[in-house]
Amino acid sequence: MVNIKQEDIYDICFNISKKIILPKYQNLQDEDIKYKNGSDLVTSADIAAEKELKKNLLKIIPSSGFIGEEEYSTNHNILKSYQEDNYCWTVDPIDGTTNFVKGRDKFAIMIALSKKEKILYSWIYKPLENLMSHAIYSEGSFINNKKIKTKGVNSLGEAIGSISTKYWDEKYWDKIKKLKNEFAEVKSYRCIGYEYLDIGLGQRNFAILSKLSPWDHIPGILFAREAGCSDIDFNHKPYNFIKKNNNLIVGNSKEFNLQILNKLGV
Ligand SMILES: [Mg+2]
Repeated sequence: MVNIKQEDIYDICFNISKKIILPKYQNLQDEDIKYKNGSDLVTSADIAAEKELKKNLLKIIPSSGFIGEEEYSTNHNILKSYQEDNYCWTVDPIDGTTNFVKGRDKFAIMIALSKKEKILYSWIYKPLENLMSHAIYSEGSFINNKKIKTKGVNSLGEAIGSISTKYWDEKYWDKIKKLKNEFAEVKSYRCIGYEYLDIGLGQRNFAILSKLSPWDHIPGILFAREAGCSDIDFNHKPYNFIKKNNNLIVGNSKEFNLQILNKLGV
């Protein structure tokens, strides 16, 4: 496995935050904000940050592939890089763009490095707190270089988490709507990176997800897994970003996730 220096990724995130993202925080002009794919927000900071991430990450492994959320919106073919027997970076330059546009505090830079189906490294950086979290395959999950371990609740009635509100197949929709009542609290951060970190820490317990764009989930999945959490799709398989699977449960433990699948009858 290629050795990535943690300081290198930290420096890249710190500098892009300082030069590109934070100067636009609560300071976006109308011309900085656009819509893509119909209704998703994108800002000049998302686009500029992704270009800079690509330039810097490809310097670390020059032959690697690169898949970025913003590049994908204009060229869907880039997903083919996952099929190649090569290292591939996946980047979400700003996770939580809607929060960023509204001047709210939860948004993050997310990066992952994979080879074929294996996620090797991931990073989630919180610009406002200058806080780096990372995970390394089979070595663990870390916040500011301190190893963390998840903890969980036993029953759904004690649990706090989120349920995606859009993009569900009709066959699940009624059950998904009712499922909300099973939990102590269902509330989204509108920034899935923050949710993955809190699930890893055991401060939240689950996320029930639809429409799985790889840049939204690859970084957080490795962090959650290495912290001791579990993930299962609606075919009872772990998340696989190469195969197209649309629904996923991430939670503190496998037993907890199975209770949710049981409620959904899948
Ligand atoms: Mg984004």
